[in-house]
Amino acid sequence: MSPEDLVQYIGWAPIAVMVGSCVYVTVMLGLTKVACGLSKKIESQSDLESIAHSEALRLGLEEPVRAVLDSVAPNSYADIAEGGAAEIHIRPDVATHAIVRHELYHLYGGHITLLRELGARWGGLLAGPYYWIISEPSASIYAVLGIRLGRHTQKTA
Ligand SMILES: [Zn+2]
Repeated sequence: MSPEDLVQYIGWAPIAVMVGSCVYVTVMLGLTKVACGLSKKIESQSDLESIAHSEALRLGLEEPVRAVLDSVAPNSYADIAEGGAAEIHIRPDVATHAIVRHELYHLYGGHITLLRELGARWGGLLAGPYYWIISEPSASIYAVLGIRLGRHTQKTA
């Protein structure tokens, strides 16, 4: 079967999805590299707390955010602990202002709450696509460019 026969057989849609996925991964990795490479490094827990505080204020987060320089975590992440306390865990080897902005944006955007809701209702069926298509790109774009692309807020009953 020649490549032309393969294209005729399966159509262009899977190829477009594969090319689109490669472009997406390249752009996302590029944004992360830009964020890490050009942003100022954070050297200590007290620096992290100070930067997280000022960046949270700039972003308009109303609740205090606990910031932890965490060498045990496999990746930097944002979380909402039991009781509702917001926190970010930043790995020391990638601790920069941009990574702090990235993780804070996950809190600002309501990503943690929505991912949990989607996971509880649908498992990975919707949580995975939401994470990769909405959550990560919007947090990375905010970290690098300072552009806010939307916010999920909880509906009140
Ligand atoms: Zn993220």
